[in-house]
Parts: sequence; structure tokens; C-alpha cells
Amino acid sequence: MKEKEAKVIIRQKKAELGDKLIILGHHYQSDEIIEFCDYTGDSLELARKASIIDKAETIVFCGVYFMAETASILAPGKRVYIPDPSAGCPLADMAKIKDVEHAWQFISRITRSITPVTYVNSSAELKAFCGRNNGAVCTSGNALKVFEWAFKTTDKIMFFPDKNLGRNTARLMGISDDLIKEWDPEKGSGGLNEKAVQAARVILWKGWCPIHWPEFSVSDVERVRKNYPGIKVIVHPESDPKTVKASDASGSTAQILNYVNSLPKGDNVAIGTEWNMVHRVSKKMQPDLNAIPLKEVRCADMAKITMEKLALTLSDLGKAHEVKVPDHVARDAKVALEIMLKV
Ligand code: SF4
Repeated sequence: MKEKEAKVIIRQKKAELGDKLIILGHHYQSDEIIEFCDYTGDSLELARKASIIDKAETIVFCGVYFMAETASILAPGKRVYIPDPSAGCPLADMAKIKDVEHAWQFISRITRSITPVTYVNSSAELKAFCGRNNGAVCTSGNALKVFEWAFKTTDKIMFFPDKNLGRNTARLMGISDDLIKEWDPEKGSGGLNEKAVQAARVILWKGWCPIHWPEFSVSDVERVRKNYPGIKVIVHPESDPKTVKASDASGSTAQILNYVNSLPKGDNVAIGTEWNMVHRVSKKMQPDLNAIPLKEVRCADMAKITMEKLALTLSDLGKAHEVKVPDHVARDAKVALEIMLKV
């Protein structure tokens, strides 16, 4: 199918379905897809939107699989479709529920005063695990608030699956590195002993987003500062904590947009996150602001959502991939997701 043909089909189907259809799109989607989205946002904004969708019976999610799963959990009774079910997330895949349960068993024998918190970039099973164990889900936009919430009731947090977001958030709370330990699922007992677990305030799962880590480095920040004296640098908190420290600010995609919009005219800003979003911001801000990518890095999974696949999905929803989460998993995951939406 040619792009032109796909465009015609998408427009036609959107017009036919009217307010029965909502297309949600993550900031990392390409311009061609964003053009057809009714709402765009970061994970938190899209989860909020999914939870309050009223009229629409059908949600088509342009993003990766865990995002569509989250929409399906938060919008029971709606049909949620993803144009390509193979659009996964390597970070989410790094925390398998079996390994997490094994780690939890080990740690729970040492301490009961610990709250499991998972980043929204995780499987529905992991969210359900947190729901069952008095834990919560967070996004990069509200990780700090969720950490504060967790520390009200327990001494420790176990955070999955992104070690960088976890460490950056713990540091924001003033927790020193010696109180932050990493659980390595490749090692027996995570590479930690009883003393280390007892000493820890935060235990991080050893996972990372390959788009943000180790991609954005301190030397990238130094390079743009040298090339553009006075430039502001903002990076996503899935980046290396050293890079975050060397930057002027860090934040979720929505927070990055707010930061860029708050800069005075004529400023230069380098943005360390997925290229599609940086490219769009850069076009939008010209000529008032010069926004450049800290480095050109693209998420191959986000790029799996194409106009052709969106057109095929809308053409025949009966044959499209509907995202379904088993009832018992959705029920427990919703408990943890509702805390994310409430804090
Ligand atoms: S950018 Fe990173 S966290 Fe986001 S979907 Fe791609 S691999 Fe996953």
C-alpha cells in the first residue's frame, strides 16, 4: 500500500467511525502518525486520557505494546487495538515476572518493609504483581511523587525495570549512592547478600532503555556545550545519572516540552531523547528557538507503527490485533495503576 493510499483510507475510516474511535499516539511516533492522532502525550498523559474516554468504543494505540495494555486495563469495556503487536519495549522485556517473583521471595525473607514500584514501561503481569503487593506503577513524569508515596509506609523501595530512572529519582530524594543497590537477574540472589539488602533504601532492577542508555553520555553534553556556548541541555531520566547531572534539567517527554516552551526566544537547547520527538519540537520552535538533538537516536519499536499498518487496522478491525489482558491480571494491575493516576 502506498503512503498516499494509506492516508486516504485513514481519513475515510476516521470520518466513518466519528466519535466512536479515538487514536492515541505517543510523542515518539513519527509525524505521519501524529497527524492522525486525536491525542498525543507521554505515558502518563495517555494513560489518563484512556481512563476517562467516554463515547469512543474503539481505541487505536499508536505506541508500543505495554502502552496499549495499559490503555486496555484503564478503559475496561473499550476495544483497544495496536497496529503492530510486535512493537514491544526491550526495557519492559528485561523484567520477567518469574525472575521478579524470585527476587521478591528472597528480599521478603530479609525485610517486609519494602514497596514494589514498577515503571509503566513493564508488562501487565509486573503491574499486577505490584498491585497484589501493595505497590504502585509510576511514569517518568511522576516517579518522584510515587517514591514519596511509597516511603510513607515502608523503609525501602524495589524499583523495576529501569535502573537509571530509579537512581535518578532516588538521587532527587537525596538518597546517597551507597544506599542504592542493583539487583542483577542474571546472578543468583541478584548479586546481593543479606547485609546489602538490609542497608539499601532503594533496590533497582538491572534494566535499561537502549535508546537512552548508554547512548546519551557526559561527552555528548560536553560536545554540544563546546559547539554552542550557553546552550541548555535537557535529557530524559532513563539516561545515565552522570549525564543527567551534567545536564541543566531532566524530565519525561511532557516535561521536556514544557521546559523547551519556557525558554526565552533566541536560546539554543539540546534534547536527549528519541529523535522523532526532538525533530518535531525543533520544527515547531523555529525560528524562535534552536532545538537540536543531543544525539540522533531512534526507537525501532516505536517506528514499527506505520501509516500502512494504521490504515490496515482501521480498514478491518475484525482482523486487527486487539489487545486483551486476562481479567485477573487487569484487576490487580489496575490497583497499582490507579495509585499512579492519583498521586
Ligand atoms: S524508547 Fe526505550 S523505553 Fe521507550 S519504547 Fe523504545 S526501548 Fe522502550
